[in-house]
Amino acid sequence: SRHYATKPSVLGRLLPNQPVVRAVQDVTLAIARTEILGLVGESGSGKSTLGRVALALEPPTTGKVLFDGTPPGDNLPAFRRRAQMVFQDPQSSLNRSLTIERILESPLVVHRFGNAAARRERIAELLGTVGLRADMMRRYPHELSGGQRQRVGIARALAIEPAFIVLDEPTSALDVSIQAQVVNLLVELQQRLSLTYLFISHDLRLVRWLCDRIAVMYLGRIVEIGPAEALWHAPRHPYTKALLSAVTAETLQPPEAAGDVPSPIRPPPGCAFHPRCPAAGPRCSREAPRDVTANGVTVACHLHDGGVS
Ligand code: SF4
Ligand code: MG
Repeated sequence: SRHYATKPSVLGRLLPNQPVVRAVQDVTLAIARTEILGLVGESGSGKSTLGRVALALEPPTTGKVLFDGTPPGDNLPAFRRRAQMVFQDPQSSLNRSLTIERILESPLVVHRFGNAAARRERIAELLGTVGLRADMMRRYPHELSGGQRQRVGIARALAIEPAFIVLDEPTSALDVSIQAQVVNLLVELQQRLSLTYLFISHDLRLVRWLCDRIAVMYLGRIVEIGPAEALWHAPRHPYTKALLSAVTAETLQPPEAAGDVPSPIRPPPGCAFHPRCPAAGPRCSREAPRDVTANGVTVACHLHDGGVS
């Protein structure tokens, strides 16, 4: 079985903090059953927004979300049973005034799972599933370590046996020493329960290890998407290249794409990456690149569609 060992992420420290973005544009994203799709990009690229739109927690401004071919809105309760979220920070996502038992019971009550005795049994089972002892159910979130709290967050997401889980930076609030344990748990659960993951992260090394495919977001657009190994070994979009060079350099040198991230509210015209792109030409500020697919990788860059001049 697979085992992940943590290495500190250089990228995470390199990237400037950006305000929350509401804008996600022209995104088409299909996730196959039991696939792990990684979604990477800087803070403010729209990753979390896209994750929330995928779970129908936020409406798409345009376009639509389909789950097994059906819009979630057709039967929202049924959709909620099948699609869940694990949040970045288990400290703030768990109600501190409730015991772990009450926290895990809540989704069971909402989705009408059995009687009190059946729910209690299910809670003990869930705790075991995420590697916690059953007697943890009597504790409060502040009595748990960060890693234990995130295991509870995962148990809560699993409570009603979903098929699809959006994980929004599920390990980035944890100590590096326990990140790998949680990642390994997530992989084990995905395999055992045949789960489908949308795994949001700024840690390209982790995403490469964990995911089948990677989607790279920049200012609300997916600029490159393809098999994880293809993106890692042969990135095509200049932004993907810059992200990768930041990881593999293992230094705090600015990547080629250094510089302030432009406002996502009013993105630059043409290719939104052009003010930071080392390969930009005259065409890039005039014309938005379209998606071009070759060998299973889709990229939105004029370099791969007739050139930049
Ligand atoms: Fe760079 Fe132009 Fe490609 Fe945009 S379209 S990534 S600016 S080369
Ligand atoms: Mg985010």
